Formats: sequence, C-alpha cells, structure tokens
Amino acid sequence: MNLQLSPADARFRDEVRTFLDSALDDDLRRGAERCGSLFQDYATNIRWHRVLYRQGWVAPAWPEKFGGPGWSVVQRYIFQAECAAAGAPALAPMGLGMCGPVLMGYGTAAQQTRFLPRILSGEDYWCQGYSEPGSGSDLASLSLRAARDGDHYVLNGTKIWTTHAQHANRMFLLVRTDPGGRPQAGITFLLMDMDTPGISIEPIIFSSGDHEVNTVFFEDVRVPVANRVGEENDGWTVAKYLLEFERGGGGAARLEALLARIRRMAAATDASGHRLLDDPDFSSRLDAAAINLDAVRMSEFRILSALSQGGNPGPASSILKTSTAALNQHLTELALEVTGIWALPHQPEARQPDAKVQPVGPDAALTATARYLNNRAVSIAGGTDEVQRNIVAKLVLGL
Ligand SMILES: Cc1cc2nc3c(=O)[nH]c(=O)nc-3n(C[C@H](O)[C@H](O)[C@H](O)COP(=O)(O)OP(=O)(O)OC[C@H]3O[C@@H](n4cnc5c(N)ncnc54)[C@H](O)[C@@H]3O)c2cc1C
Repeated sequence: MNLQLSPADARFRDEVRTFLDSALDDDLRRGAERCGSLFQDYATNIRWHRVLYRQGWVAPAWPEKFGGPGWSVVQRYIFQAECAAAGAPALAPMGLGMCGPVLMGYGTAAQQTRFLPRILSGEDYWCQGYSEPGSGSDLASLSLRAARDGDHYVLNGTKIWTTHAQHANRMFLLVRTDPGGRPQAGITFLLMDMDTPGISIEPIIFSSGDHEVNTVFFEDVRVPVANRVGEENDGWTVAKYLLEFERGGGGAARLEALLARIRRMAAATDASGHRLLDDPDFSSRLDAAAINLDAVRMSEFRILSALSQGGNPGPASSILKTSTAALNQHLTELALEVTGIWALPHQPEARQPDAKVQPVGPDAALTATARYLNNRAVSIAGGTDEVQRNIVAKLVLGL
C-alpha cells in the first residue's frame, strides 16, 4: 500500500478544501456541530445533500453511468476525510449507501431509472426495514408476511428500530413470502412507498431525548410485485449484499476530528488553572485512543485497497465495524469526561438546528452527553459486536 498522495491527488484535496470552505455555511456547520444523534437531523442532512448534488459530488462511490463523479478510491477517501475535518454534516446512508448499490447490483433497468436519480437528487429519502421484534441478529427468522394477491403483495406484521421512518417517503424491506422450509429461502426484498395505506409509525425515544428510530406497523399494505428486487424467495442474497456495504467503514476521519476536539478541550485551562491534558492518566488514555485510531485507519486502507482492485469489502468490514464502534464509544466517554459539569444539563431543545433557546454552558459541551448516550447503540445497530465476531471467527479465522 502506498500511503503518499500523488501530486494529482494533492491537487484534488486542495480543490475539495476550497469547495468546502465556500459551501459550508454557518447553518450547516452549526447543524453538524450540534448533532448529538447517530444520524444527522433530516433538515440539515437534506440541505447538505442538495448542495453536494448540485456540485455533482453527492454519491462519491457510485459509478459514473449512474451519476457518480468517477473518482478513484483514493479520491473518495480524500473527500470523506476532508468533509470530516471541515465539520460537514454526515449524509444519511440508507439511500446513497444501501438502497442505491442494491439497485445497481440487483434492480431491473426500470427500477434503476425510476429510483436512482431520485436518491441522487434527494427527492426520495429511504429507510431500512430489516429488523423485527424478535428478529435482529437472527434476521433470517423475520416473519412480516407478504401474501401474493395478483399483481400485489399484501403485507402484515411489524418492523422495529427503523431509523428516520418518520422522515422517509420510501422503505426497502425484507418480507416473508414462504413460511415453510429453510428460513433464508423464504425471504423477498421489496421497495415500498411510505404513504401506502395501512402503514403506521410509532416513535421510540432514546434516553438522550432524541427521536431517531421507530416501530412501523403494517396492516394489509399492498405493494406492487413490480417493486420486488431480485426473485421471489431470493431476498436473502440481496440482503447480505447490502449488509456488506452497511458495514463498509469510512468512520476514521470523523473519529479523528472528534479526538482533535477532545484534545483541544483538554488543553484549555479550567477556573482553577488546571488542564486535563496534564493529567497523566487522561493523557495516556487519549494516546491509547490515538493508537487505536491508527489501527482503524489502517483497516479502512486495507478495505480501500481491496475495493480499488475491484473487490467487495468482504468480512473485513466486520472487523472494521467492531473496532470503529469500540473507539467511537471510548471517545464519547473521554469527551464526557473533558466536558465535566457542563455535561449535566439535559437540553435536547438547544441542540435542534433551529433552536431558539440559549444553551446552558459552552457550545462545545452541548452534545457530549447525547453523543455518549446515543453511541452506546453503535455496537448494536447494523449488527452487534458479538455477531460481527462470529463472522470473523468463521470467515476470517476459519473456526
Ligand atoms: C440505534 C439503532 C438504529 C437501528 N436502525 C435500524 C434500521 O434503520 N433498520 C433496521 O432494520 N434495523 C435497525 N436497527 C436494528 C439493529 O440492526 C438490531 O438492533 C441488531 O441487529 C440487533 O438485533 P436485536 O436488537 O434484535 O438484538 P438481539 O439479536 O436480540 O441480540 C441481543 C443480544 O444477544 C446477542 N446475540 C444474538 N445472537 C447471538 C449469537 N448468535 N452469538 C452471540 N451473541 C448473540 C447480541 O449480540 C446482543 O447482545 C437499529 C438498531 C439500533 C440500536
């Protein structure tokens, strides 16, 4: 692996920096800064999405023929790292990073023509309907029933933990089309409009006060057979393909920005003239985090290297998922510590991008508690640590 930027890549990095300098206005920066949730709030996300769309940069990983910018893997990495360093909002992955790649890999020409441009423009906002009560890690046991009725499937059942279902106008989901035989063999992958009659959404509120996930109920919901991706009862193949992309990484740059922020806060002098950075225990934990960050970055490079040679992320994405989650959680603990007493006020209203209330304490402290609480979920969402380790044991170590 050559880790030096070529002169052309260095020029590209400068171009990205210049763009970010002018494109990121105060509202976008504040929206990202005040985001304590796992996902960027919808309003900030969609504003930034449209800015990038107009620039032609909203889908760095998409092939040119579907509207991607035609960047190399290294350029994609540079873009991601520069966005994180500049404090840009993170885009929602459900359309660009999950449904889009699935449609490119398994969708019909009609589905690609209908849905891909709307993902790019931000007209469609997708949510992911995989998990059900009782079917998370053991996803193949899912039971939301889809019975065939002429040109439609009729859906009855429940999805849970559905991120941003309250904002989405479309959902991609897994349904049970054959209740007999091997569980994996009776699953089908569908695309659905969220305003179809029979759908109701109930919020699940995080301990931080944030509303990010939901329970979605289905009662006789009719979905056209034309919205099926892949063959009936072969949805498991499509579902697994998507999960590799979901766990594909890209978090090191954001963690690096968070580590730098913690260092800056720890270097500030408090009212009694102390700096937390001078505390040997705290600074050694910061250094340990920096070493772990290097390991995460190297794992990302390994995946990039595989991708640049035409491969898929493969099981390495599971290694990256667990190590990124662990570091993420560790950094949010350090951030909480460095925030001190200002972590105590519970003020979710002040974190809203259009907040009219003045935050209690310094701005930099506003998100520390919410990020700490919400990030407990990163070792669960997208596949738990234990499940990732099982994948590594089987596919990497051959156990
Ligand atoms: C914040 C958040 C957002 C989410 N967003 C979405 C979304 O948008 N769409 C969606 O479909 N889902 C979403 N999920 C659901 C997520 O994918 C599941 O929570 C996850 O797969 C775990 O499933 P579960 O919650 O049913 O836990 P369970 O599978 O019941 O696991 C419970 C515990 O048992 C352990 N365990 C289970 N099986 C094994 C095993 N074989 N070996 C060892 N240990 C095991 C687990 O590691 C865990 O500790 C989200 C979850 C969270 C927390």
